[in-house]
Amino acid sequence: MEKGNLEVMISYNEILDRVKLLADAINRDFAGEELLVIGVLKGAWIFMADLVKYIDLPMEISFISVSSYSGARTTSSGVVRLLCDVDRPVERKNVIVVEDIIDTGLTINYLKKILSVRNPNSLKVCSLLDKPSRRLADINPDYCGFSIPDEFVVGYGLDYNGYYRNLRDICKLKLSN
Ligand code: 5GP
Repeated sequence: MEKGNLEVMISYNEILDRVKLLADAINRDFAGEELLVIGVLKGAWIFMADLVKYIDLPMEISFISVSSYSGARTTSSGVVRLLCDVDRPVERKNVIVVEDIIDTGLTINYLKKILSVRNPNSLKVCSLLDKPSRRLADINPDYCGFSIPDEFVVGYGLDYNGYYRNLRDICKLKLSN
């Protein structure tokens, strides 16, 4: 594993407080409705697990897997590939796509395009993190945990080259040369 310096940017306690507020907002906005919550693998798995525990609505859960970074890179390749599709029908569902981070916006733009043609009743995006300064696509999350500066972060599900996903906090990663 490549060694890097880690510095805590957002602690687990701060994350959890914010996750509960996001769940409250979803509970309010979709009161009386059912949801299909779709997690974007692999980065969103821990966020999604915490978030759904605080959503008190009937829901189906599914996952979708895409790839936009290849290997040991810290910037997006700009080419989004669908690796594994959802296993639930999307038609007439209130879909919430749960993302770890929106950076250029190309991934979420692609996901919204392929899901919207399946005629959901509604389609919202809930992202834990947002790096608005790097946006290329004209898209913003409907629910956002934290807006962060242009730093490469790992932990709480986010990786660098497959590692660090298990860190409890969200940390800045500085690679040592
Ligand atoms: P976008 O298509 O918006 O540029 O990138 C979205 C994806 O890039 C995210 O789902 C995530 O997998 C990855 N990504 C973007 N910024 C970061 C970052 O700071 N750290 C990590 N680990 N992944 C990132």
